Amino acid sequence: MTTIDRERLARLWSDEIELFVSQRPRSKALWEKAATRMPDGVPMLWMAKWPGPWPVYVSEAQGAHFTCVDGIDHIDLCLGDTGAMVGHAPAPAVAAIQAQLAKGATTMLPTEDAEIAAGLLADRFQVPFWQFTLSATDANRAMIRYSRHVTGKPKVLVIDYCYHGSVDETFATLGPDGSVQERRGNIGAPVPPSETTVVVPFNDVPALEKAFAKNDIACVLIEPAMTNIGIVLPEPGWHDALRALCTKYEAVLIIDETHTICAGPGGMIQRDGLQPDAVVVGKTIGGGVPAGAYGMTAELQERVRASIHLEDIDVGGVGGTLAGNAVSLAGIRATLSEVLTPEVYPGMIQRATEWTKGVQQAIDDFGVPWQVTQLGSRSEYSFLDRAPRHGKEAADADDFEVQQYLHLHAINRGILLTPFHNMALMSPVTTTNDVAAHTTHFREAMESLVG
Ligand code: PMP
Repeated sequence: MTTIDRERLARLWSDEIELFVSQRPRSKALWEKAATRMPDGVPMLWMAKWPGPWPVYVSEAQGAHFTCVDGIDHIDLCLGDTGAMVGHAPAPAVAAIQAQLAKGATTMLPTEDAEIAAGLLADRFQVPFWQFTLSATDANRAMIRYSRHVTGKPKVLVIDYCYHGSVDETFATLGPDGSVQERRGNIGAPVPPSETTVVVPFNDVPALEKAFAKNDIACVLIEPAMTNIGIVLPEPGWHDALRALCTKYEAVLIIDETHTICAGPGGMIQRDGLQPDAVVVGKTIGGGVPAGAYGMTAELQERVRASIHLEDIDVGGVGGTLAGNAVSLAGIRATLSEVLTPEVYPGMIQRATEWTKGVQQAIDDFGVPWQVTQLGSRSEYSFLDRAPRHGKEAADADDFEVQQYLHLHAINRGILLTPFHNMALMSPVTTTNDVAAHTTHFREAMESLVG
C-alpha cells in the first residue's frame, strides 16, 4: 500500500507556495491593506483557512466559474460551500432579486412571494407549514427552541461530528469514555454541552435506542447523510429506527437538508421517502441572497402555534427583523421555480458521477488507500480505504497537510474545492470539461505525491 513521504510533501508544498505567490500579486496587495482593518484580512475568520499565504480575492463570479483580482479564471467546485450550488448569479434569480430590491427590501410585512415560496418548499419536502430566516443556522435554532417548548423536554440529540451551523447545542462530540464533550475548537460555550446535548454516532441504532431510554429528548437534529465530515451515507434501517424512536418517545425529528438538497429537488426526504416532523433548508435556496427556512407538519405547527401568545410573539427568542424579507423571498421563489428545478438534477448528478469516476480511477492507478463517496451532485474523497460508517471514522482519517497540498495544487491550476474537506459540488451549469480539468489536476497531484 502506498504511503505519503512527508519530506517530499514538504518540498512539493513549498513549490506550490512559490507558484501561488508568483501568480497572485494583486490579491497580496489587497490582503496587506485588508489586514489593517480585519483579522487576517478577511471579513469572516473562516476565510483564513484556505491554503496559501494570503486569500484569493474575487472580482467576479458567474455560473460555475469565478475570476480573481489577478485575472485568473477558476472552476468553482466549492460553490460557496453550497451557498451557490445553483451557480453564481443565475439570471432568473438575479432578475427577481433586482426587481424586488427596487420595490423595497423589507417592511416587516408579507409579500405574495412568501406564500408561493412556502408552497414550493411544501411540494418538495413533504411538510406543509413554513417559516423563513436569513440562514440555516437560524432555522435550526428556531426548530430546537420550538421542540423544547412543545415537548417540555430539555435535550437535543445530535450526531457525533455533525455540523448544523453555529448552533450552541451541536458543538458536542463523544469522548473516549462515551461521555458528551465539547467539540475541539468550540469557542466560548455558554454551558457544558453535556447539559444540553446527547450525542450518538451515525448509523448506530443500539446507541440511539440507549440515548432515548431516559426520555429527556426534545428533538433529534440530523442531516439525512453526513456531509460535513466527509460524506457518510445512511445504512439500511437507520432512518426507519430514527423515525420509530422519535414517534415512540414523542421527540421532534428535524431533518436538516441544507446540504443534502444536492440529492434531489426535495433532498433525501423526497428521494428516499423520509418522514420528518420538521425540515430545515438554507444556503442556495435564495439564489445568492441570504435565506433559510424551516417547515413543519400540520400537527407540529398546531402545537407550536397554540403554545405561543400573540402578546409575547416578538420576545420569545425565535425571530429576526430581516427574516422573511421581501428580497429573500423573491430569491427563493425564482430559484426554486426557475433555476433549481427537477429538470437540472440529472445533469448535476451526472457531472458528480464523472468527477467520482475520475478521482477513484486516479486513486486506484496510484495505489493510495483512499476512496470517494458521492451523494447526488456532491462528491468527496477521503483518506480512508473504505466508505466511513460514522463521523469519528471520517474524522480520524483527516490529514490536514495532504489536504492543504491538494487544495493548493488545485487553486494553482484554477480549481477551487470546498475548504475544510475534499468536496466538489456540481451546479446546473458545471460542464464535463470543468470536471475533466479537475481529474487532470488530481492525477498530476497524485503523480507528484506518489508517482
Ligand atoms: N446545516 C448544515 C447541514 C450545514 O452544512 C450548514 C453550514 N455548512 C448549516 C446548517 C448552517 O448554514 P449557515 O452557515 O448558512 O447558517
